[in-house]
Amino acid sequence: MYKHIPGTKDILPDETSLWQSIEETSRNIFSLYNYSEIRTPALEDVSLFNRSLGESTEIVQKQMFLTKSGEDVYCLRPEATASIVRSYIENSLDKTVGFSKLYYIGPMFRHERPQKGRLRQFHHIGCEAIGSFEAELDAEVISLADYLLKGFLIQGYKIKLNSLGCLKDKARLTELLRDRLKGELGALCQDCQVRYNGNVLRILDCKNETCKNVVEKIDLKDSYLCPECKAHFLKVREGLDSLGIGFEYTPHLVRGLDYYTGTVFEISHPELGSQDALGAGGRYNNLVKELGGPDMGAIGFAFGIERLLLVTKLQGQKVTSKKLSYLISLGEEAKKQGIKLLESLREKGIACDTDYEGRSLKAAMRRANDLGANKVLILGENELKNGVITVKDMVSGEQKEVALESLAKDLKC
Ligand code: AMP
Repeated sequence: MYKHIPGTKDILPDETSLWQSIEETSRNIFSLYNYSEIRTPALEDVSLFNRSLGESTEIVQKQMFLTKSGEDVYCLRPEATASIVRSYIENSLDKTVGFSKLYYIGPMFRHERPQKGRLRQFHHIGCEAIGSFEAELDAEVISLADYLLKGFLIQGYKIKLNSLGCLKDKARLTELLRDRLKGELGALCQDCQVRYNGNVLRILDCKNETCKNVVEKIDLKDSYLCPECKAHFLKVREGLDSLGIGFEYTPHLVRGLDYYTGTVFEISHPELGSQDALGAGGRYNNLVKELGGPDMGAIGFAFGIERLLLVTKLQGQKVTSKKLSYLISLGEEAKKQGIKLLESLREKGIACDTDYEGRSLKAAMRRANDLGANKVLILGENELKNGVITVKDMVSGEQKEVALESLAKDLKC
């Protein structure tokens, strides 16, 4: 028997309605903020990610799914920001549209060790606002993330916020950290000892307890920020305050990818356990230029759909029963007429199905229940003779006879 690849998941029909509900809510909310959908390929040139995420990042070093075809090495995208910036420049959106608000929903691929909340194929809902350096945009993007979570009816999340500053500030922060950690190298885990030379900022979010203890003692605050970045960060916080968005200034918050500059944020949920990030994002003011476009500010974020669903399930959310009418035909003639009846209902926009197996009334009722039907239609010899059909409401249990010609109208109410 074939099995799925570890770290991938079949999303079965009893779950897809939850996925659809998350996706639909997202689309509605994105359009309230005037975002348009963008769909980029799952396959990209590997050098796009090496360049934008950074050679020393964990994703590039260890987690890329590479596929070789002749001389070409492609990569299954580990995230979408780099692809969207590539597409934005390649399709000249900087010249034709300029400032763009884009959103996306789709699978991402990272070769990680699978565990709860951490998959090798997972799904992002995310957005990118490309073409502005203004702090008001940062506040709006974070408020959009907050609004999405409210739309998903998720409670109890925390928004952590920090600023990494411009490239010069980031270099200052890197030096500062190297300096503070110099005497503590022996206490750090093996990975962090490697990170010390390559990607020292990552030491700040190492999950290892001893590394956490070392890092906790380092007082960072905004000492590495230049006056301009300090003022920008203050504006972002004031903007969020004025929008009534709760957040926690977290000076140790960093993002693992090289392209992040300025405002960064992460949204965590305590019910998720060790993989507690629901989503994350931030500014990447140098990426458009770095990938060959003009000097343009940009900001975005992504939520992991699987983690959103873990929380919604833990918080006891259920999908409301679907609108499905289930026909039970008793006898050959009723079966024949029933098929025609279903077609006419579908033409009028009513979702319906039937029991093709000729089960007993009891077994067919059970099937209707399993399918989550809200109405059961019973068509037997008597009903056929009188031109009516029995309609049972599966929620209230109420049962009545309805004339066949007014059935569609009745089901629509
Ligand atoms: P990142 O691009 O790493 O900032 O990820 C953004 C969000 O995607 C995270 O906050 C998670 O919710 C989700 N995510 C990232 N990696 C994985 C993974 N391997 N499996 C499941 N969800 C993930």
